[in-house]
Amino acid sequence: MERGSATGEGARAPLRKRLERQRTAGEKSPPGGFRAALAVCFLLVPPVLLLQRWQAGPAPAWLFAADLPPEANRDIKDGVFDDLSPSAQIEYDRLLGGLLIEGFDERSCRSRYQFARYHKSERIPSPYLIERLRRQEALQKKCGPGTKSYRSAAEQIRSGQSINSTKDCNYVFLIIHAGLGNRMLEITSAFLYALLTDRILLVDRYKEIGDIFCEPFPGTSWLIPSDFPLSYDEFTLGSPESYGSMLQNNVISGNMYRSLASAKPPYVYLHLDGNYGFHDKLFYCEDDQQFLKGVPWLIIRTDMYFVPSLFLIPSYHEELSKLFPEKDTVFHHLGRYLFHPTNDIWYSVIKYYRTYLAKADKIVGIQIRVYEKKGILQRNGPFPHILEQILSCSQNEKLLPEIAGTDKAATTAGNNRTVAVLATSLSSWYSDEIRKRYSKHRTVDGTTVKVYQPSHEEYQKSRNRKHNMKALAEIYLLSMSDELITSGFSTFGYAAQGLAGLTPWIMYRSVNHVVPDPVCGRAMSIEPCFHQAPFYDCKAKRDTDLGKVVPYVKHCEDVSWGLKIVNRTRL
Ligand code: GDP
Repeated sequence: MERGSATGEGARAPLRKRLERQRTAGEKSPPGGFRAALAVCFLLVPPVLLLQRWQAGPAPAWLFAADLPPEANRDIKDGVFDDLSPSAQIEYDRLLGGLLIEGFDERSCRSRYQFARYHKSERIPSPYLIERLRRQEALQKKCGPGTKSYRSAAEQIRSGQSINSTKDCNYVFLIIHAGLGNRMLEITSAFLYALLTDRILLVDRYKEIGDIFCEPFPGTSWLIPSDFPLSYDEFTLGSPESYGSMLQNNVISGNMYRSLASAKPPYVYLHLDGNYGFHDKLFYCEDDQQFLKGVPWLIIRTDMYFVPSLFLIPSYHEELSKLFPEKDTVFHHLGRYLFHPTNDIWYSVIKYYRTYLAKADKIVGIQIRVYEKKGILQRNGPFPHILEQILSCSQNEKLLPEIAGTDKAATTAGNNRTVAVLATSLSSWYSDEIRKRYSKHRTVDGTTVKVYQPSHEEYQKSRNRKHNMKALAEIYLLSMSDELITSGFSTFGYAAQGLAGLTPWIMYRSVNHVVPDPVCGRAMSIEPCFHQAPFYDCKAKRDTDLGKVVPYVKHCEDVSWGLKIVNRTRL
């Protein structure tokens, strides 16, 4: 959709133009702080290395400020942040419609208040959501690490004794795993569940969360303290501590299961991973939610966006419709509330954006995720049918201009328009091929297409800090696009579309290496898909199609058995 279009999605372009004007002005006369920072930079970094890092070109090396010596690091970061920041005259809502509050230290987490400079949203959070977030912040502070309440709750786990009375401070503790996109979806799901059940959210401290995200809650930490009394990494499918096993083994059953007054265990492990079994899935039933209410600690392992199934639990209906009158904005609002990339990552994002993308009239993000086993990728990849799919989707849907067969075939001499393609992929081959095609031939309408790809990591390496930082930076860069093409099934793409508030064109997964027909389709909403959603009707006690129960939870476009939230009023 072009600038000024009915959806208003192109409304980012004027902001980008203003940023660009300012950047150009800044280049002519760099501010004093930035000049000083550059001087420090040149003194401290070997010039050859610097040249390599700052080389202009379609796929530049990444510069993470963390790579520089610590002394330079601080000055350069501050200087460049200032230089990259649009002037105060540019109006933007730094608190994202009230999702955020003032009072955090800006220097230690620039992205928190700068995000809105690069993202415009038409979705306004409800006053009730804002009120609940403030209440949640107070609860996080009252019950969080270091407080008397936390110590006493941790002590309950140590003692192993059953609980007879309800406490003020109850906890959801999320064991983090999987790739970056999955992590963002699982944290958001756990946070919504915490909001709905008046619990505080704590997350696994050992999975680089502190390296990639700033703390979201004021005056407290969301990282579980290192002296947490359980070896939770061992919890898995079938662990005796799991709710599913307790039900299956009749540890919780009969009267005790039904009775709210009965004693509760100090903690329950909820195995909500993709491989979960029938009894684990009963978590999504009303009766089971009632039972779990009095358990002080719920320890969740999931790799999924389980929000759509929360919308199907009757006791949460009213609260959810007050929190999200526009139903398909759950990830959009909660993701922008929770996730603030740390300075190293944010620096890379805005530097790349300003250098390569800001000048364009339109940015088209193309997220390319190829699901093949490593051996097949090594033997047979890259795959021409995926390249064909990308080009067909982007040209058929008029996101990119068609390429003229010969120079003569071009109908327009040239129109001064530039489209920047931001491609993200583990492989560089696809964007190299797209770039080659657009640089060798003219486009039918004379538009210039430039193709950029920030990194190509070849393989997923989820335990590598730098790798995760690049992945997160790319999710944020994709979220700065005007239009987005994503690969079906991929949570990496879901996270980008949700942060942006863009309904993407989803490229369907190919079978037997054949280009699918149709190649892609417009998503129904900006929400992620819950891949392994249960299909059990808790009341009728039989399997049913849960994509047909309420009009705002439907099957996903890319995963036919999955569930996603759509906004009824927008269909
Ligand atoms: P999903 O597997 O596609 O659902 O997405 P996840 O983000 O959960 O996991 C994939 C992981 O592979 C990412 O977190 C990255 O570590 C890596 N990865 C996949 N695609 C890309 C990409 O385009 N760029 C980068 N930098 N990493 C990627």
